[in-house]
Amino acid sequence: MPKYAMVIDQSRCIGCMACVVSCKRENDVPPEHYRTRVIEMVQGTFPDLTTEMRSELCNHCDNAPCVNICPTGASHHEEDGTVQIDRDKCVGCKACIVSCPYNARHINEEHGYADKCSFCQQRLAEGKKPACVATCIGGSRIFGDLDDPQSEISIILRKNSHRVLNKAVGTGPNVYYINQYPKRA
Ligand code: SF4
Repeated sequence: MPKYAMVIDQSRCIGCMACVVSCKRENDVPPEHYRTRVIEMVQGTFPDLTTEMRSELCNHCDNAPCVNICPTGASHHEEDGTVQIDRDKCVGCKACIVSCPYNARHINEEHGYADKCSFCQQRLAEGKKPACVATCIGGSRIFGDLDDPQSEISIILRKNSHRVLNKAVGTGPNVYYINQYPKRA
C-alpha cells in the first residue's frame, strides 16, 4: 500500500485560493467551513512588509488525537496512512474537533457528522490527485507516496529541508512545508 503525504512549497503559493475553491466544490463543503485554507501572515514594519502564504489542512497524522479519542471508531486510519471519517459511525460528539491541534475539523451542521480533508479519497480511488493539487496553478502542492522512493514527493523531501507544523505536539503530521517564504528571522 502507498503512504500518502503532501508537500507545500510556500515559495510557489501566490494566494489565489484556487485550492480552497476547488476543495469546496469537489467536497461540497458548506460556505461557513473549510477543509483547507490559505493563511496570510504579514511580517515586518511598514513600509517594509512581506507576506507569508501558508496552506493548511488535515495533516493525516500518524499518531492522530482525533482517531485516539473517537468513541465510535468513526475516525480511523486507512491502510494508505490517511485519516478518514466513517460518516455512518460518527455521532457528532465533537471530541475529535477539540482534540485536533491543527483546527482541521468542523461539524457539517446539515448532516451532523464531523468533516475534514480526506486528501480527496474519492479522487484517489479513481487514480486522480486531490482537487487542491490538481488546480494549484503555482505547483505549490505536491501529493504522493512516501513509500515509493522514486515518487516526486519522496525526491522533493530528500532534496529539501522541510518542516511540519506544531511538531512539538507529537502527532506525526504527513503534510510537509518547504521553502518558507519569506524566511523567518
Ligand atoms: Fe486528526 Fe487533526 Fe491530525 Fe487531521 S490534523 S489527523 S484532524 S489530529
